[in-house]
Amino acid sequence: MPRNGIPIPEKGPDFRHVDTWIFDLDNTLYRSDSALFAQIETRMTDYIARHLKLTDEEAHRLQHIYYRDYGSTLCGLIEHDGVDPEHFLFDVHDIDLSALKSNAALGEALARLPGRHYVFTNGCRKHAERVLERVGLTGSIDDIWDIRTLGFVPKPQPGAYDRIVEFAGFAPHNAAMFEDMARNLMPAYALGMTTVWINDGSSWSHQGPEYPPVARRYIHHEIDDLGEFLQTIRL
Ligand SMILES: [Mg+2]
Repeated sequence: MPRNGIPIPEKGPDFRHVDTWIFDLDNTLYRSDSALFAQIETRMTDYIARHLKLTDEEAHRLQHIYYRDYGSTLCGLIEHDGVDPEHFLFDVHDIDLSALKSNAALGEALARLPGRHYVFTNGCRKHAERVLERVGLTGSIDDIWDIRTLGFVPKPQPGAYDRIVEFAGFAPHNAAMFEDMARNLMPAYALGMTTVWINDGSSWSHQGPEYPPVARRYIHHEIDDLGEFLQTIRL
C-alpha cells in the first residue's frame, strides 16, 4: 500500500518493528560535504585559544583530546576548565548556513515513517532548529534532544542514551538510530535499538586513526545516503 503517495517496498530492510526514529543532526540530516561542521570546529578552536590563552595548535590538540575522551569538546571544557556551557554553545554555533540546501526528498522520506521522529545531538537546540529550518525538515521532527536535555552527558557515553529513553519513554527495541559517527551507535545497539551508520567516507564517519574501529556487529545497516535508504525500507 502506498503511504503518503510513496509506494512501500515489499522487500528491503525490515523496519516494521520501529515506531521511534532517532536522528543525529550534523552530517546526518545534511551531508558532510557542506563543510558546515568544519566551521563549528574552527570556532571551537578559536574559542579555546581565546579563553584558555593557548596557541591555535595547543587549542586544537586539547579540543580533540576532550572530544575523544568525553564525546564532546564542551564536556571536557566544563569538567576541567570551568567553561560556561551557554556562552560556548552560543559562540561556536554562530555559523553561516548558506551552504545548506533544502532537501525535499528527505522530508518526503521522513513523512512516511510511522511514529515519533527525534533529533539526538551533542550540539544545542538553537543550532538544530536553524539547520532543520534551512533544510526544510522543521515539520518532520517531533522534538530535539540537545546537550542540555542530556544533562551535558554527551554521546557516546551510555548515560546519554539512558537519559533519552527515560525522558521520551520509548522502548529501545522499537527504536532506530541513524548516525554518521559509528562509535555513537554502540550504546544504542547495546540497548537493543536498530542501528544505521551513514558512512559517507568522511573522516568524521571513520573517526580518524586515533579511535578504535567500531566492530561491524554494532551496525545493523551501513548506508551512504539517508534519504535513498529510507525509501527502500519495509514499514
Ligand atoms: Mg554527526
